[in-house]
Formats: sequence, structure tokens, C-alpha cells
Amino acid sequence: MRKQIVAGNWKMNNDLSQTEALITALKAQIKTTNAEVMVAPTATNLWQAYNSLKNSEIEVIAQNMHFAENGAYTGEISANMLKSVGVQTVILGHSERRAYFNETDDMLAKKVDAALANNMRVIFCFGEELADRKSGNEENIVENQIKNALFHLEASAFKNIVLAYEPVWAIGTGETASPEQAQDMHAFIRKIIANTYGNEVANNLSILYGGSCKPTNAKEIFSKPDVDGGLIGGAALNADDFFAIVNAF
Ligand code: PEP
Repeated sequence: MRKQIVAGNWKMNNDLSQTEALITALKAQIKTTNAEVMVAPTATNLWQAYNSLKNSEIEVIAQNMHFAENGAYTGEISANMLKSVGVQTVILGHSERRAYFNETDDMLAKKVDAALANNMRVIFCFGEELADRKSGNEENIVENQIKNALFHLEASAFKNIVLAYEPVWAIGTGETASPEQAQDMHAFIRKIIANTYGNEVANNLSILYGGSCKPTNAKEIFSKPDVDGGLIGGAALNADDFFAIVNAF
């Protein structure tokens, strides 16, 4: 059976003391849930977050990493460095990384390879822009993003991959894909995975939805058969809202 996952992406928010305060608020609310729960603090706070949460049910994950093991890449962080501070899972391909830091499918394929070579788990993000949806091109865009970054992998690699469909027009905009739009796209994604890797890989793959997911809409979105959880931005910065979303399962 595939896993249900709710991951909070804190983006470039929260300094060290704000991170500690949010973690304290989260710890006060943790209870056993069906979903795996993860939070992605900014890189400078990973070690502190890992230590604060290591005996809890919340996994600390990273927002990004570089594909090289080490070397002359000023300002970058490698898989090994993340692992050395307790991080086992990394978000790759977020639309903000693609849009503001020019991350291409080729670069993301290398990042995915580096993470998997280091036995890390990847939450791989992709999604169409508004113009793509308006022109009816959303499936092509999503299919190409997935194929270009992931389809060089062996089937066995997918046990360490989680997909996150994040329509760019819904991220941080307050506009959410309807549960039906999310379900249609998730079913399409599962179909293209099944066509290349078979039904077993496709059926075991968790596909998260991201884009203005909130306590008020999470239950309906998560009730769709191909939606296995959410990648949460804004609402993950508030412990009550985040746990209301986790408890939507
Ligand atoms: C995100 O950035 O991954 C995201 C889903 O953000 P938000 O929930 O704020 O739309």
C-alpha cells in the first residue's frame, strides 16, 4: 500500500528562534496519524530542527541540494552534507527553484541521481503554469517534466521517489486546483508511470498535491483516490493549520 504523506515546505521563512518556536508548537500537537509528516526548514536550521524532532514522528527534510558531492560550488549544499545533519529526504524541482534559480530538467535529473546515490528519498515537484492550463497543454508539460528528470531511472529507484504535482498557478496564490482537477492529473501521472514502469511501481508511488492546500480544502482533496497527501507551503507555517491538514486524513 502506498504511503500518505503531508510535508510542510517552510521556504525562506523563520530564523533559528522562530524555527524553534514553530517546532515547539508542532510538538505540542503531534499525535499518531496515518500519514507520514515532514517539515522542511531553511538549510541553516536543519541541524537544530533535526535534533529537536529526532525522537518524534515528524521527519526533517531539505528544500534543495546540489548534484555534486563537493567542490567549487559557492553557496551550495551536497547530499552528503544534508545526511551529516540527519536529513534523509530532499525536495527537488520546486517551481520556485525552476523559475528563480533556472533549474532545468537536465539539472534536476542529476540532482535526483545524486540524492538516490546517497540513499536519500526525493520529493520531486513539477506542474504547469496558468498559460499551459488555459491552452489545454497541462498534461504535456507535466509528462515532459516527469520523463525528462526521472525516466532514465530503473523501476527499483521509485521506492525512494515521491511525486508532488504542484500547478504553478495555485502556489501561494490562494487559488487551489479543484479536487477533480487534482484527481484527473494524479490519475494521468499514475498512468504514465504505469505505462513505462508497470502497475506495481505506479500503484506504490505516492503522489502529493501542492498549491494553496488549507484546512478548509484538504479533506476533499485528500479524499480523491490518486491523491496521497500534500506538499504544503503557507499553511505549514502555522502549527494549528498544518495539523488540521495532517488530520484531514
Ligand atoms: C509550495 O510552495 O509547495 C506550496 C504548495 O505553497 P502554498 O501551499 O503556499 O501554495
